[in-house]
Amino acid sequence: MSAKIPEETIDQIRNASDIVEVISNYLTLTKKGKNYFGLCPFHPEKTPSFSVSPEKQIFHCFGCGKGGNVFTFLMEHEKLSFIEAVRMLAQKAGIPLSYEQKDAAQFQEREALFETARFAARFFYYNLTATKTGQVGLDYFQQRQVTKDIIKKFGLGFALNLWDGLLKSAQKRTIKAELLEKCGLIIPRKDGAGFYDRFRNRVIFPVFNATGRVVAFGGRRLADDNTPKYINSPETPIYQKREILYGLGQTRQMIQAENRVVMVEGYMDLISLFQAGIQNVVATAGTALTPEHARLIARYTRNIVLLYDGDAAGANAALRGLDVLLENDLDVNVVQLPAEHDPDSYVKTAGVAAMQELIQSAKPLVEFKLLMLAETQDLTSAAGKAEAVRSILNSVIKIKDEIKQNITIRELAERFFLDERLLLRELDQLKRRLRSTSKPSVQTAEKTPATTGSPKAAQPKMKVHPAELAITRLLVRNSALHHFIFLNLDFEKIRQPVLREIVEIIYLFYQERKKFDPAKLISYFDNPKVAAFITGALNESFEFQTEQNLAVDCIVALEKRDILETRTQLELELREREKNKADTTSIIKKIQELTQLIQMIEQKKFIKYPKKT
Ligand SMILES: [Zn+2]
Repeated sequence: MSAKIPEETIDQIRNASDIVEVISNYLTLTKKGKNYFGLCPFHPEKTPSFSVSPEKQIFHCFGCGKGGNVFTFLMEHEKLSFIEAVRMLAQKAGIPLSYEQKDAAQFQEREALFETARFAARFFYYNLTATKTGQVGLDYFQQRQVTKDIIKKFGLGFALNLWDGLLKSAQKRTIKAELLEKCGLIIPRKDGAGFYDRFRNRVIFPVFNATGRVVAFGGRRLADDNTPKYINSPETPIYQKREILYGLGQTRQMIQAENRVVMVEGYMDLISLFQAGIQNVVATAGTALTPEHARLIARYTRNIVLLYDGDAAGANAALRGLDVLLENDLDVNVVQLPAEHDPDSYVKTAGVAAMQELIQSAKPLVEFKLLMLAETQDLTSAAGKAEAVRSILNSVIKIKDEIKQNITIRELAERFFLDERLLLRELDQLKRRLRSTSKPSVQTAEKTPATTGSPKAAQPKMKVHPAELAITRLLVRNSALHHFIFLNLDFEKIRQPVLREIVEIIYLFYQERKKFDPAKLISYFDNPKVAAFITGALNESFEFQTEQNLAVDCIVALEKRDILETRTQLELELREREKNKADTTSIIKKIQELTQLIQMIEQKKFIKYPKKT
């Protein structure tokens, strides 16, 4: 959602929402000294390390490092976008939100589409549960052993065996055909004369987004005709299938509670597992796993169990999914179902206990890939082994966490009686090959003003110079040093875009002689990672003298960096020229000048300040 809310309004809402009061709605806080403490809702713990500061209007967990202001808390805890969190608190505080006109129009259109989808979902549900013609749909679900409760919980429905069932019903309610079309519910006739229903004579699975609103539909055919077994809504302004996981709206609490999710492919797989009591489950429903799916699920848990069909297609889908999830730093295990089964059929024939057991014993990467490879390759021959090892390394390389990567390498070495170092070397080579074939990845400096709603921007990732990081943390935690640092630091020297933005915003406080307000700083970034970085820095404290010395070290290091880089460049050129026996006098002179400059910077005198009391 890209609706824009003016900065003043965001400030007003933040100021009207006391963080202690808001967080108290979710957990018990006890006052200790200036701050409040409670059990962290973001990681399991027995003694409270989650602190809330009424003075700074921020929270910070000393256990898991999460932190932020009142908006961040709602974003993280309720899994809301920044805009949704702002809207929720605005409503509580009775502050009206005004949008800019273009955004208001877009917002209204989205709202109209949500309403249209809701209307359709109700229509389908009514057909299934309250009409005679819907009995065929009900029969289908009965035959699949789906209970009434589940039908209600997932809002299952039935699309009549008519070309205009939904269309006519919508017209009665003066819902425009244009909206139904935009929602993907009707299709224009080829001759241009009107529309017809997309879903006909099918049982319907409405798809909800993470905030519980209907955004799309999946329909399974009932007739044994040659239409596709399943059809899904096309992409619409409210439905991007790369970003939606089926069932998440109903299952997210269970996923969080168990700190694990079972991922299946089909609507019926999810519903059968859910009904059997395995409720920490989501389905990709009609699309392959995407990086967006991985990031979405990572909001709830990092432990994934892939449970796909037992046939070759399922195994291949699992292999692809495995790589996507590993690349996004998730822990993945894979269940191998008997070849003739899908999760729905297995839980019904073998029972929930057997299914639970399979999930518990899901295989990690190495074992699963070996099982797959064993079916196509002779793992007893040297060539077969080598092939298998390489294939597994191709997945291992996608594991982001180096420790986990090493553990997996050790497993692999043990499994094949190989020297671990040999595998590490092989992995290194693979990495180098990948680097040389992939384009240099330039991270674009994405600006994130406070008023955008997307949580995806502003990731403080890329090679960051330690001095950039240190001086930014210093600025956040120690406002007594703002004057000193801003007198001596050239902002241009901070290259990481998010850190640079943090520094610039702190400078605004300094320049306008306003008291530094960390909660306000946090709301410039609608990004929980940046928020945690800021509250983390706020909770560090060192001796003033140490801090000032650190500031000097950082400023010197950053000033030297550009020059050092140029000098290295010149030294390479020099070597090149020497090789070619070309003239080197001017280049040597330049290098000497730069060396002098570096010495000057190192000896630069800073006017230091005594600690203000
Ligand atoms: Zn925590």
